[in-house]
Parts: sequence; C-alpha cells; structure tokens
Amino acid sequence: MTSSPNPHLSSQLPLPFHSSPTPEEIFARVFRRVRAGKPLSKIRVTFREWAQLRSTIRLTHAGIEVEISDTLQDASATVLEALAEILICRLNGSRPSREARACYLACIMSPPMRQRINEARRARGFKLIRPAQGRCFDLQQIFDQLNGDYFQNELRVRQIGWSRSPSRTILGHHDPAHETITISKSLDKPAVPRLLVEFIVFHEMLHVRYAVERNHHRRVIHSAQFRAAEKQFAHYSEAQKLLKSGKWGTGWEG
Ligand SMILES: [Zn+2]
Repeated sequence: MTSSPNPHLSSQLPLPFHSSPTPEEIFARVFRRVRAGKPLSKIRVTFREWAQLRSTIRLTHAGIEVEISDTLQDASATVLEALAEILICRLNGSRPSREARACYLACIMSPPMRQRINEARRARGFKLIRPAQGRCFDLQQIFDQLNGDYFQNELRVRQIGWSRSPSRTILGHHDPAHETITISKSLDKPAVPRLLVEFIVFHEMLHVRYAVERNHHRRVIHSAQFRAAEKQFAHYSEAQKLLKSGKWGTGWEG
C-alpha cells in the first residue's frame, strides 16, 4: 500500500488500515456499509480446503459465520471486499453492486486463479484412497523396494494406495498435506508393465523428497533437481517410452 495521503479516501475509511486488513475487518467494514443501521454481529471468517470454489455465509446466534475456499486465501483486500459485499447482500436478499460483482468475477476468471481452482479440484477430488494391495500390484511392496533402492529407507508417507476411480490423466498424486500417495486404479491391470507402476510410484516419492519451490509467483513442482533425480531411475528411458506411447495414460497431477 502506498502512503500518499488522499483526504477524500481517508475520510471514507472508518478504520485505520496501516497494513493489510484482516478478512474479519473487511467483512465488518462492508457490513456497516451494506446493512447500515443494523447492529454489527460478531464475524468469523474461515478458509476451507474445499475441492470446489465456493463461499457460504450464515447468521447464527453467535454472529456471522463466513466460510471461503482457501483458494482465495491470498486474494487482495479489494477482492475480499467485493466478495464480502456479495455475501452480505445474500444475507439481505439484496443485489450486490455491479462493481463488486465485476471485481470478484475478474479475480476468479484470471488465468492464475483458474489454474489454482483446477489444481484444488483435481487434487482434492482424488483423496479417497483404496488399500495398497490391488488386484495385480501391491503398492506398499513397490514403495518399500524403491525406498530401499533409492532413498536409504528414509522416505515416509502416511498412506499409499489406489485411487477409487480410474484416471488416465492423473496416474499418480502426492498430497503433501495428508502425506499420501495415490496411484490411479487404471494401472492395476495385468497388461500394465510393472516397470511403469514402479516409475509412477518413484515419481511421487520424489515429490515427498523435493518440496514444491517458488519462483517469484510461480510454483515450481518439478524443479531441475527433481528432474535430475528422476533420471536416476534404473529404467528411466523405458518408462518414458511407455508414458509417451499414451497407451496407459497421459500424465499425472503433482
Ligand atoms: Zn510430479
């Protein structure tokens, strides 16, 4: 925020915002403006790890409960203010201003936000895991073997298992929050080369070893270091060939 004094603006702001206001402060300010005259209830704003982008507002005996997808956690104060207006108007049954709607829409339609929304949906929709012992492959056995061969038995996850539904576009997924590795059920077939399953598990294990890096505002999921380590897989080029054939699926998430 710049500190250039704007007497017109500062006279409109009822609270002294030295740094970024908290979500509760933003909602309280909008509440005063939109529900003018009504007593200000206690407001609680919680960000939730939802798979979908959504926001809810409820009036309870304790005050106002707001829940927002954590995809919006880093949104600017302006965007949160627009969302606050939309939600508080929902309580009122009134229509939010055109400016608020346009501001919120511009934020959620922006390419970086679309990407985050998609990532959340894909990763979180993939969370329910079936046991490691599948029809054809035992993922725990593969994990243990790779752990000994490549990681000095030092790698830990809470759970490794098969996805509930087969996916050809998400062959594997590592969830750092839940410390789980999920492998697509579509690979649990007799015709699938064991080497490919091993490679997908190996790739996900590397995600445990190498955390996602940040390069300015971009998230670097597969760093140069990650890619170099991946090439250490004994049958790397064979695995790449199998993946590139597209016969068993086309990619993975995370
Ligand atoms: Zn990956």
